[in-house]
Amino acid sequence: MADLQKTHIPEETAELFRRLSLEAHKDKELYTCPVCRDNGWFITEQGATPCKCKNASRSINRRRAAGLKPAMDDMVLADFDLRYYSVERQIKPGCSYRQTAEKALRAARIFVTACLKGECERGLYYEGNLGSGKTFLAAAITGELLNKGLAARFIVVPEFLEQLRHSYRSLDDGDYDEKELMNGVMSAPVLVLDDLGAHNSSSWTIGKIYTLLNNRLNNKLPCIITSNLKPAALAEELGPRAASRIKEMCDRYILLTDEDIRTSRERAGYGWQN
Ligand SMILES: [Zn+2]
Repeated sequence: MADLQKTHIPEETAELFRRLSLEAHKDKELYTCPVCRDNGWFITEQGATPCKCKNASRSINRRRAAGLKPAMDDMVLADFDLRYYSVERQIKPGCSYRQTAEKALRAARIFVTACLKGECERGLYYEGNLGSGKTFLAAAITGELLNKGLAARFIVVPEFLEQLRHSYRSLDDGDYDEKELMNGVMSAPVLVLDDLGAHNSSSWTIGKIYTLLNNRLNNKLPCIITSNLKPAALAEELGPRAASRIKEMCDRYILLTDEDIRTSRERAGYGWQN
């Protein structure tokens, strides 16, 4: 404080510095841009707003390259809203929807911390119905890792399989494209497989998914999987070999809501019904 006065900075500027440094200190981290905390964007009532600092374009480019979609830009762990998960309804005696959601959120934070320390080998399997928040958590984890400079890839599995299928352009060069696509996701330090199982089950898809998972398991590279498939349905839809890989490499967390969170948000006045 004394230093600031010595250099004759106007009092309101000094006050702003003090406030920003207090805020930064509160989070036990220092950011080059306190407005967006180096995320490149910040959240307003309108959603994700790009910051004016130099981090903005860099951060957005990194997110797109990783596979995160614009609609996922305001998905951050700090905004995961536990109020959507009932404290009354129970998944089993003594365990409410809220408690399982809390566990899922805690696991997300632990995962990010472990990755930053380079100690993450086990992945996460987020199981839940449509609009239960599983994609939110997976996208938020991806975003946090990218913000900290870690490479992560986010693929929506049905889209990725479509892409793979279209990579067979001709016998000559199609195979190369497919390899490139597969290698890109197989080698990512962290890979999110969003909506696994929401695609057609065929021997071709079963084979591709098994290759992907098996390769990552062998190389001790973690996956985050979101799916609406319960354990019993995994083997049926993805084949027993892929199912056993998933159980080996991921811890399972369940997200349950009474209805799609998007519907709850609409009722709260965010959408069409108002
Ligand atoms: Zn900024």
